[in-house]
Amino acid sequence: MKLAFNEATTLENSNLEDDLILCEKHGFDFIEIRLDKLKEYLITHSVGDLQNFFSSANLKPLSLNALEEFTFRNQTEFNLMKQDLSLMSEVATAIDCDTIVAVPTFGIEKDWEEIKRETVVRLREFLDLIKGTDLKLALEFVGYPDCSINTLDKAQEVVEVVGNPQVGLVLDCFHFYAMNSSYEALKNLSIDDLFLFHIDDCEGKLPGVLRDHHRLWPGEGVIPLETIITLLYEKGFEGPASVELFRPEYWELEAEKCISKAKDKTIHLLEKALQKILK
Ligand code: ZN
Repeated sequence: MKLAFNEATTLENSNLEDDLILCEKHGFDFIEIRLDKLKEYLITHSVGDLQNFFSSANLKPLSLNALEEFTFRNQTEFNLMKQDLSLMSEVATAIDCDTIVAVPTFGIEKDWEEIKRETVVRLREFLDLIKGTDLKLALEFVGYPDCSINTLDKAQEVVEVVGNPQVGLVLDCFHFYAMNSSYEALKNLSIDDLFLFHIDDCEGKLPGVLRDHHRLWPGEGVIPLETIITLLYEKGFEGPASVELFRPEYWELEAEKCISKAKDKTIHLLEKALQKILK
């Protein structure tokens, strides 16, 4: 299974320029570029510099992430978000990347039908902006109690209503586990809707209590990753798996150490899972 690196893993101990060099050096196949690191990079570099890097590297861009909390915004905020999407579209097209991640808003105490309606409307507005391109929008549900979409089945419902092949899902093992998403939903997930797969593990805290900083290297926590990978594999999903951690302790490591460790831990876990499947 191909391997990707999500830049959140080195959120505070590296930048895009170094993440690119180090991920290439350590043999990652893909990188998921964070919008904040991209904007910082573009202060001193051009989109052409990024294009040049990828044209001579084995490392390829997997996604740009993310349009954060895109629902229930006022018009000004949403227009700024559309501006972010325009920047991401321009960069994605230039570097031959086809996926942009969108994350729903937190702290919304509205009925599900209203949340669903708003999410669908906003995704369709984004779709208008990328009409005629090969770009795809990947909706990432977040396993926090107060996220407006916090389980796989609810995210699937939204994608179904949008009903456009340019809109699909991110399945993040931490978010799946953290609000007790159902295995039934995972079994029902269509591979065509699965745009990105985030691999991570976490401490043994209860669903509803878990937060991003409880994430652990794959294989070091309590998430039944092998079961999840087996289910996906049986559906025909072949990756890539993108390691995405937000653990402050890991941000204290040297960036290179963090990146090489992320690779080793993820490969080890994937090999273990795939060995079982192929037995
Ligand atoms: Zn994720």
